[in-house]
Amino acid sequence: MESIVIAGGGLAAATVASELRERGYAGALTLISEEAELPYERPPLSKGFLQGKDDPASFTVHDGPWYERHDVALRLGVAAISIETASQQVLLADGSAVDYDQLVLATGSRASVGGQNPMPGYDLPGVHVLRTVADAKSLRAELTEGAQVAVIGSGWIGMEVAATARQRGARITVYSPSEVPLAKVFGERFGHYLLELHQRHGVDVRTARAQGIEQVDGHLQVLSDAGSSRADVVLLAIGARPNLQLAQTAGLEVGSGVVVDASLRSSNSKILAVGDIAQAFNTRLQRQLRVEHWDNAIRQAKLAAATLMGVEESYDWLPYFFTDQFDLGMEYVGHNSPDDASVVRGSIESGEFLLFWQDGQRITAAANVNIWDVNDTLRGLVGREIAADRLTDQAMELKDL
Ligand SMILES: Cc1cc2nc3c(=O)[nH]c(=O)nc-3n(C[C@H](O)[C@H](O)[C@H](O)COP(=O)(O)OP(=O)(O)OC[C@H]3O[C@@H](n4cnc5c(N)ncnc54)[C@H](O)[C@@H]3O)c2cc1C
Repeated sequence: MESIVIAGGGLAAATVASELRERGYAGALTLISEEAELPYERPPLSKGFLQGKDDPASFTVHDGPWYERHDVALRLGVAAISIETASQQVLLADGSAVDYDQLVLATGSRASVGGQNPMPGYDLPGVHVLRTVADAKSLRAELTEGAQVAVIGSGWIGMEVAATARQRGARITVYSPSEVPLAKVFGERFGHYLLELHQRHGVDVRTARAQGIEQVDGHLQVLSDAGSSRADVVLLAIGARPNLQLAQTAGLEVGSGVVVDASLRSSNSKILAVGDIAQAFNTRLQRQLRVEHWDNAIRQAKLAAATLMGVEESYDWLPYFFTDQFDLGMEYVGHNSPDDASVVRGSIESGEFLLFWQDGQRITAAANVNIWDVNDTLRGLVGREIAADRLTDQAMELKDL
């Protein structure tokens, strides 16, 4: 009987399994995850779960009985440590091995603590990262009313946690290496909007590069190029690093991720990669992309299942993501460059608006902020050439642009 093995236990891994069964794959199917939990979605970890609202069952991809019903063998709480390509086997940390005919790598990312030069003090008690449900539980326990929280980093996870912790009554300082959060990716205009949103809610966003964390007289102290300040809790939110070690043991071509083609096959035709680790060729944008988003994990998992079943499909969609911070709910579609001009449709002050990024007149990306059910229309506009004054003209319906 044919055997497909999935190494990794997040959203992408679980979706490959369900999509394969939905497409009628009847062979053996094994999912190996170093986490002990059933595969779950991570977005609630910085939002509803961290706030104390969402129950893990609500973001578990499939419940336990689902895996039994669909005959998916789960190897939870054990890491895959290497791939023997000659014998087509995955070796596990417990000394066992699983044979594969086809292997899907879905090992995702881990929170960075600074790579080769870890942030001094990253391992002190009270210093957290946020990637797993266990991380979220231990952080949540310390986000109490009045706690002084230092968030190091002003990317999406840092800003989302700042918002959630503020809503739990904590006092927040964000150490942002840039003057305006996320401006390097989305440009100044959107970055300013986000900065003001946080300031309005009482978050102290400092332009400062954190240099280390120390323990002084029973509390923590964040050292930065703009001076040092006291904290009860520190979140290191300085980015994620793809888990590429397993792919490397198979000698696969690796760049910023596992290099795969538009159908997600790696340099070894028996091995595919999906989700956060995949550096895949996007046929729509005609370039390689590595995307760390929820939607990408699902869509690439479905594409990988199609490829495994011999169906010709390709990575041809635009990146999409969402975020929730205070009263901001936003969806983004496309792939802008930070140099693209941005155009606002509606009023930023009202908190309900659309944003378009343009390279000349070509729309490279668009976002809807607190306006819903328009993201598909925006997706259709990306790639088209439309003059900025038409985009901002609200007398013209969006669908008629
Ligand atoms: C706190 C947080 C909030 C987020 N919020 C958003 C959001 O609002 N919007 C959005 O679009 N995206 C968001 N994301 C990103 C999104 O969650 C990721 O893009 C998505 O989880 C990627 O899925 P994945 O399955 O590729 O990888 P992961 O979810 O990282 O799963 C990989 C799994 O593989 C396991 N693994 C790794 N190595 C091995 C090994 N050798 N053997 C066995 N198992 C292994 C890992 O332990 C993990 O369980 C958020 C991420 C985090 C951490």
